[in-house]
Amino acid sequence: MSGVNLKNVAVVLHQPQLSENIGTAARAAGNMGLGRLIVVEPRQMEEDIIMAAATRVGQRLAQDLAVYDNLAEALSDFNYVVGTTARTGPKRGPFSSPRALARKLIELSQDNRIAIVFGPERTGLTSAELRLCQAVVSIPTASPATSSLNLAQAVLIMGYELLMAQSDEIPTPRINLAPAHEVQAMYDHLKKALLELRFLPEENPDYWLMSFGRIFNRAGLTHEDCNLVRGLARQILYVTQHGSWPKKEKAK
Ligand code: SAH
Repeated sequence: MSGVNLKNVAVVLHQPQLSENIGTAARAAGNMGLGRLIVVEPRQMEEDIIMAAATRVGQRLAQDLAVYDNLAEALSDFNYVVGTTARTGPKRGPFSSPRALARKLIELSQDNRIAIVFGPERTGLTSAELRLCQAVVSIPTASPATSSLNLAQAVLIMGYELLMAQSDEIPTPRINLAPAHEVQAMYDHLKKALLELRFLPEENPDYWLMSFGRIFNRAGLTHEDCNLVRGLARQILYVTQHGSWPKKEKAK
């Protein structure tokens, strides 16, 4: 039997508004054994309030808290980024349940660094922020009208599902996913090429690019996969800019 490697899972709080919620999120992450807590662009950071709300359970996570001022930068070294949202609009998915995600992470978390991103208390994550994520999770609630959980409660439920997930399946070959900054650079390159090719519209290309994102996210991209796509982008850019193909290198 094997479970999720919780030490490899970080909780990322994007633009939390209240110190108390940072503390209670640390506590929830501590309850479930999650590895790290990261805060991006906090609106408030009162250490006393954070530590009191974290209690002893979340003390270590709160003390080791890493603070960033940019979400993409905070995520850049993670191999698999999961967004969470209460709002399940058509442009925000495809969604998975916490349980389905947890099963997927049993394998992925062994050798990859996983980030679970939580949005600001009032507004949650935007669609553009969700595009930085390889998977989007929505925690089921009784009805859409009651879908918005308190930040720390959302952390707790995600952590609980990760803690409980166990598999007795024969382990599949492990996969090493490319870190987020490499995947992002690949998307930038591909976007440039597909704009040049006039395959992507000038209007909101990021949204259309995510049709490829959905395919890639189903598969999971390794370093070599990113290089392959970038090679294709390079070739498209060459041909569109020169109107001819690059000369073949002579085999020696
Ligand atoms: N109205 C906001 C609620 C923000 S609550 C929204 O629509 O998302 C703060 C954060 O808690 C959210 O950004 C999300 O990360 C998490 N959260 C709250 N309810 C959730 C739910 N039902 N499923 C998944 N995450 C949830």
